[in-house]
Amino acid sequence: MLTRTPHDTWSQFLEFIEERCSAAEFENWFSAIHVVNSTSDEIHLEVPNIFVQEYILDNYKKDLAAFFPLKPNGDPAILFSVAEPKKKVNSTQAPLAEAPLPTPNVSGQSELKLNSFYTFNNFIEGPSNQFVKSAAIGVASRPGKSYNPLFIHGGVGLGKTHLLHGIGHYIRDNHKKLRVQCITTEGFINDLVDNLRNKSVDRMKRYYRSLDVLLVDDIQFLQSRLNFEEEFCNTFESLINQNKQIVITSDKPPGQLKLSERMIARMEWGLVANVGMPDLETRVAILQHKAEQRGFRIPQKVAFFIAEHIFHNVRQLEGAINRLSAYCRLMNLDATEEVVEKTLSELFQSNPQKRISVENILKSVSTMFDVRVSDLKSTSRSKEIAFPRQVAMYLAKELINDSLMKLASAFGGKTHSTLLHAWKKIAGQVEKDEMLRRQIDMARRNLEA
Ligand code: ADP
Ligand code: MG
Repeated sequence: MLTRTPHDTWSQFLEFIEERCSAAEFENWFSAIHVVNSTSDEIHLEVPNIFVQEYILDNYKKDLAAFFPLKPNGDPAILFSVAEPKKKVNSTQAPLAEAPLPTPNVSGQSELKLNSFYTFNNFIEGPSNQFVKSAAIGVASRPGKSYNPLFIHGGVGLGKTHLLHGIGHYIRDNHKKLRVQCITTEGFINDLVDNLRNKSVDRMKRYYRSLDVLLVDDIQFLQSRLNFEEEFCNTFESLINQNKQIVITSDKPPGQLKLSERMIARMEWGLVANVGMPDLETRVAILQHKAEQRGFRIPQKVAFFIAEHIFHNVRQLEGAINRLSAYCRLMNLDATEEVVEKTLSELFQSNPQKRISVENILKSVSTMFDVRVSDLKSTSRSKEIAFPRQVAMYLAKELINDSLMKLASAFGGKTHSTLLHAWKKIAGQVEKDEMLRRQIDMARRNLEA
């Protein structure tokens, strides 16, 4: 330890951890931590927010203690500091006082419509969503004072809307004086159209500016809606500048949305958190919870059986429980594996994650670009090889739920940062290059077929 620099020790710690957690966990919890300083009896780490500090101390204290100096009580001697929030980008737009604002339909303005089931209590936590849930609770507890905006992204049916409404419920119950509105982006656009038609945009502006908390679902629908985007961005700035809380959900991270740089920069001001597919144990807990809510009982073994076969999204798990409970009630049967197979087999998914391996990806990419697999695994930096290798790395990270380190080592022993770099590069290029996007989609379909 003495001859290593603090950065070495931290890198070694990261490598150790990376092998023990999923890529999503690693990215949410560890990738944004930086070593600020270190002495022989303390290491100083900068964390992006307090949740990260709490999480790593709750879950990795023993591992930290094995790598870093210790306090007399045996705890790791770590000094944490929270990183300064990113600087706001200077607005080049019209002064805020003139900014036009959006709104839900003016007549029903004050009504907050939330799904009564979508509360924090009903949101089951696991490694893939713990970070985003604690961020949501943090924001709901201190609206406008912690992370602003909170940007939640993730695939379909993974609980983004649930968390958004959870924030709404919590604020409505605990901060009664605050004015909260929850809108879908589609709803926002429709209302704006109506208000433009009725020449009532000013009223809409006033309404929005009077809010304390604005919850916006599915911002991806703002893509390619240029005029609306500008209106939305103005609203956004106006609220943020008054320290009003904004929470946004999206199916992609801000940088992958086809929105203006201004809009993207603003969405990245606060905290960006990913919600991933829950692991098997969490899926089982979700199934049990959903069954209980319906007054239906399923044995643990049966819950595992369902959760092993349905892993794309939580909404499908819910559909499975609905169907199973209806069938069992009608036929007066217990939920056994046989009954499950009979009623749910067409919902069951073949598991692409189980079958897709780095080797499959290398083969597919080598055919696509007419290079040899051995070249892809080599250290050659020639463009003809390096680019297909980056595409393969991108596909590996997208399609295989394994640690970055394991994935990278399957490429002839590359490092996780090489893989991450390749992924970022290709992810950026896919957005701009239609041809590449098609190639990648094709490779993905072939691999998943
Ligand atoms: P998204 O907005 O990401 O597409 P939703 O929030 O609509 O997904 O979630 C789909 C369904 O799955 C909802 O019924 C929601 O209650 C449920 N769900 C998702 N994640 C969880 C979770 N962690 N715990 C309990 N229910 C969940
Ligand atoms: Mg949703």
